[in-house]
Amino acid sequence: MEVILLKLGEIVLKGLNRRTFEDMLVKTVRRRLRHAGEFDVKTLQSTIYVVPKNEDSDMDMAENIVSKIFGIVGYARAGGCEKAIEEIQKRAAEYLRDDLESAATFKVETKRSDKKFPLQSPEVSNLVGGYLLEQYPHLTVDVRNPDFIVNVEVREDHAYVHTTPKKGAGGIPVGTGGRGAVLISGGLDSPVAAWTMAKRGVQLVPIHFSSPPYTSELAHRKVENLLRKVSGYAGRMQMISVEFTKLQEAIRDNCPGDLNTVILRRYMLRAAEKIAELEGCGALITGESLGQVASQTMQAIACTDAVVSMPVFRPLIGSDKSEIVKTAYQIDTYDISIEPYEDCCTIFTPKHPRTKPKLHHIEFAEKNFDGESLMMEAIENRKFIDISP
Ligand code: ATP
Ligand code: MG
Repeated sequence: MEVILLKLGEIVLKGLNRRTFEDMLVKTVRRRLRHAGEFDVKTLQSTIYVVPKNEDSDMDMAENIVSKIFGIVGYARAGGCEKAIEEIQKRAAEYLRDDLESAATFKVETKRSDKKFPLQSPEVSNLVGGYLLEQYPHLTVDVRNPDFIVNVEVREDHAYVHTTPKKGAGGIPVGTGGRGAVLISGGLDSPVAAWTMAKRGVQLVPIHFSSPPYTSELAHRKVENLLRKVSGYAGRMQMISVEFTKLQEAIRDNCPGDLNTVILRRYMLRAAEKIAELEGCGALITGESLGQVASQTMQAIACTDAVVSMPVFRPLIGSDKSEIVKTAYQIDTYDISIEPYEDCCTIFTPKHPRTKPKLHHIEFAEKNFDGESLMMEAIENRKFIDISP
C-alpha cells in the first residue's frame, strides 16, 4: 500500500477556525484529485491521507496536484504496512530501496502517534536502522549530517515509511480568504499577482479587458492559457471578458493623448468594481509594481484609485521585476507571458504618457464624452469563460 501524507501548515494555528479550514482543504484535495483517479481522502492527527482506491489511480499525477494546493506545507509519498516491527523493517528496506542504494549515510527518525504501540520511538529507530545496515552493508549511520533520513510514523491505522517530505505550496486554503476580482492582462505581473493572493486564501474572479479588432483572438487565448496555469493552484474559476473597444476609441478621440492611459485604467477599475460587486467580491487585485511604468507612479496610482471605494490589493507593489520573473518561472506562466501579443493597454498609447497626472486635469478630460454609458454597455455584454487546469 502506498499513500500520500499531506502536512497542514499555518491553518493548524487558527484556533477555532481550524475545523472550517481543514474541511475546506479536504474538500479541495478531494475535488482536485478526481482528475487522477479514485482516492480516499481523510484527516487524522493533523495529517491528510490520500489513499488510492485501486490500481488505476495515478499517484504521480496525484503528487503533482497536491504539490499545488495552498494550505499544505509538505507532502510525502509513503509506504504503509501493518504495525509490527518486522513489517516496518521489511517495508523500509523495500520501499526506500533506490534512496538507500544511492546514499552513503543515513539515520532513522520515528514518530509514534499511536501511544499504545509496544515499542518506544528510539527503539523503533534502532531496530529499523539495524535491519537496514544488514540489508545494505555499504551504509553507515550518521545522526548529525546524514545523506538521507528514513522517517517511520507509527499511526493509529498503520505504520508508514517515507523520506524527508517535499515542500508544499504553503499559504492558506483557497476560499478561506473571501473572493477577489483580479484584473488580468497577458503580461508577466498580473498572473503572479493573482497567484500571490490565491496563496492567501482568495478565491479568484479574473476580469480581462480586450479591444477587438485592435487586440486579437490570440491575445485573448493567451490570457486564458495564463489563467489555466494559475488555476492549477487557485482552482477552477470563471473568467469575465469585457470588450472595451468603443470606450477606448472614445477616449482616444476625446481626451488629451498624454492622459489616455490613466483614463483607460480608471475605467478598468470602475468596471472591475461594478463586476466585483455583482460577483460578491470584497477586493480588487492588480499586478502593479511601483515605478515600473508611467501609469504606476504614486501620482498615477492615486488617480486610478480615486474612482473606486473597494480596497485594491497590489501584492507586487514592492517587488522587483527579477522577483516577479522568478515567481513566473516557478508557476510556469513565464513562457506564455512573453508571447508577443498586444494588450489593450498598449494600443493608442501616447509617446509620452504623463508620469505625474493631476486629478483635476483627468476629471476635466473625462467630461468630454459619455464614458459611463459605454462602460455600462461593455459590462452588460460581458462573457464568461470556464477555466480549469
Ligand atoms: P502586466 O504585466 O500584469 O500586464 P504591466 O506591467 O504590463 O502589468 P500595466 O499594463 O500598466 O502594467 O497594467 C497594470 C495592471 O493593470 C496589470 O497588472 C493588470 O492588473 C491591469 N491590467 C492591465 N491591462 C489589463 C487588461 N487588458 N485587462 C485587465 N486588467 C489589465
Ligand atoms: Mg501589461
